[in-house]
Amino acid sequence: MRRPGRAGAEARSLLLNGHLDVVPSGDPALWSHPPFTATTVDGWMVGRGAGDMKSGWAMAVLALSALLEVGEPAGDLTFVGVIEEECTGNGTLASVRAGVLADSVLVVEPTDLTLMTAGIGVLWLDVEVVGTQGHALAAPDGVSALEAAIDVIAALRTVTEELNADQDPSRYHLNIGTFGAGEWRSTVPGTAVLGVRIGFPEDWDPDDGQRFVTERLTVALADHPWLSEHPPAITPSGFRARGYTLADGSDIAEELAAAHHAVHGTRPETVATNGTTDARFYVNEGAVPALCYGPRTRGMHGVDEAVELDSIVAGARVLARFMASWLDTPKAPAA
Ligand SMILES: [Zn+2]
Repeated sequence: MRRPGRAGAEARSLLLNGHLDVVPSGDPALWSHPPFTATTVDGWMVGRGAGDMKSGWAMAVLALSALLEVGEPAGDLTFVGVIEEECTGNGTLASVRAGVLADSVLVVEPTDLTLMTAGIGVLWLDVEVVGTQGHALAAPDGVSALEAAIDVIAALRTVTEELNADQDPSRYHLNIGTFGAGEWRSTVPGTAVLGVRIGFPEDWDPDDGQRFVTERLTVALADHPWLSEHPPAITPSGFRARGYTLADGSDIAEELAAAHHAVHGTRPETVATNGTTDARFYVNEGAVPALCYGPRTRGMHGVDEAVELDSIVAGARVLARFMASWLDTPKAPAA
């Protein structure tokens, strides 16, 4: 049997990509079912990662087994499982830089069976605020870094409003994901650190995004009695994702839409995410057409995350049909 995923085939090649990591569950007490027991209720499987993105893996494995039942396709098929999609994208980036590529790429993220062809830029930043540490009995004379950080959050909200000034609805969202300050109750906290995620426009690079946040935050804090003189320190930490957009009319989008139409009788919607996906590395770094297509989910990253099990089969029927056609079509001759 031919080794999968190696160059030299005459037919078109395809790469399926999926991430293996999941985000933390949060407090299990908030869940209706324990987050790591995969409970099924009314056709939906509940669990952390059930949607994002074990569902895509299940869809791809079903489609692959259907494909192999009818014979081995001519073109090379590669399946890349990556780490760290949820925090940096370094897994996919490493595989792209190692040359693991194909003529087109399908990332099997859950998309409610739509074609997801674009994502915004995303930055993770640590925002460190410094106050004046001291005894609580002199609290009125000190500056609590914790309370100053609350003012920084308000200022970050105004920066986000500026980012979204010409967007309706807004696309570039701010999330304060973590907040750390203080050691105990009788000391005025000397430092506080906000873990910030912020979106930025597709045509900026991450340095543009960080510069915008830094400059506009300085303006927003210009009248602050403490922070105007002691501005927060901003450090990149994790995501530095450039936005991406798959060009209109790509073969993979057209043929996947045709396969969806053949199976379900309608053309799938084309959508852009207000987040990012690993498809960006293929489009931006590898110059390879890439998009996402996968099952229907709810509550991703939240409590009671779940996948609609029927949508895994619905997506697998499309994917199997698409792969059979794609992998048996000769490569276009080089221009
Ligand atoms: Zn995901």
